[in-house]
Amino acid sequence: MSEDKTDSELKNDNIFGKFDVPFASPVAPEQLGLDDTIQFRCHKDIACFNACCKNIDFTLTPYDILRIARHLEVPTWKVMLKYTMPYDIDAHGLPGVKMRPVEKGTACQFVRDEGCSIYEHRPTACRYYAMGTMQLRRKESSELEDVYFMVKEDHCLGHNEDRTLTVREYRIEQGVEQYDELNKEWMDLIVKKKSSGPTVGAPSSRSLQLFSMLYDLDAFRLFTQSNGFTDMFVIDDETRQKIDEDDVALLRFGIRFLKQVLFGEKSIEMNIEAANKRFEERQGIIEKRHQENIDKYHEDDPQSKE
Ligand code: SF4
Ligand code: SF4
Repeated sequence: MSEDKTDSELKNDNIFGKFDVPFASPVAPEQLGLDDTIQFRCHKDIACFNACCKNIDFTLTPYDILRIARHLEVPTWKVMLKYTMPYDIDAHGLPGVKMRPVEKGTACQFVRDEGCSIYEHRPTACRYYAMGTMQLRRKESSELEDVYFMVKEDHCLGHNEDRTLTVREYRIEQGVEQYDELNKEWMDLIVKKKSSGPTVGAPSSRSLQLFSMLYDLDAFRLFTQSNGFTDMFVIDDETRQKIDEDDVALLRFGIRFLKQVLFGEKSIEMNIEAANKRFEERQGIIEKRHQENIDKYHEDDPQSKE
């Protein structure tokens, strides 16, 4: 088993809250490392088959949405519209996305009698269940650490099955590695935003809008092809081709772009002249709006001029 850690020794940096798993509340978890052993097996002949997909509440990552969209051969905005619902990740309204259950019900829209209809492309939380995962930062450490735990719910009989394997083996079996790699880069962005607190301040509504575009990667791609974007950012031909053609490269680029927008971590070269011009234009618009507000205020209350 992994070294014992108490909550007070660890700073919980899990972005989704402690238990981001598809299904209801688990008992208090024991923290597990990659080489710890678990007892669990889920299979089609188990009496509880599909029980866990009948009452869902879990977060989707940009990569989850991308995978579902490409599998269903629809644009990401269609997946967003039909299969997701928004929620706020933090008090500043950082946008998050959850799986939307069936109309007037709690079951997942993808569950069928024979199982998950998008199994090969199922989201991260579904792959992990009945395991949960969170990222922790030890006191006085800047490194985030992955911690795993089992989610033991009464309806899930997989814990009684006679099979043991390590957390590492379970992750390979469930194909989470590729998901984790991309999710981590995105989570890093959120953890950064959470831990930056007042030093960075509340993000502008524009940057929140840009953040939510990460979930709708097809819209983000169009944004990177717009005149406003191409005038302002210097993108070399190789990168241009990659982000035009490769979804994963686009997602990674989007995360870099947001780090630049939200935290000033400059990694994409800017056309300073165009940026200044845009700033002046925006400044002009802001001043005009400000003046309009003052005029309106005086119109509504003529005595205020005196
Ligand atoms: S996506 Fe598949 S595995 Fe996940 S809750 Fe829906 S039906 Fe179940
Ligand atoms: S064993 Fe657990 S994870 Fe598998 S179908 Fe049953 S409730 Fe779901």
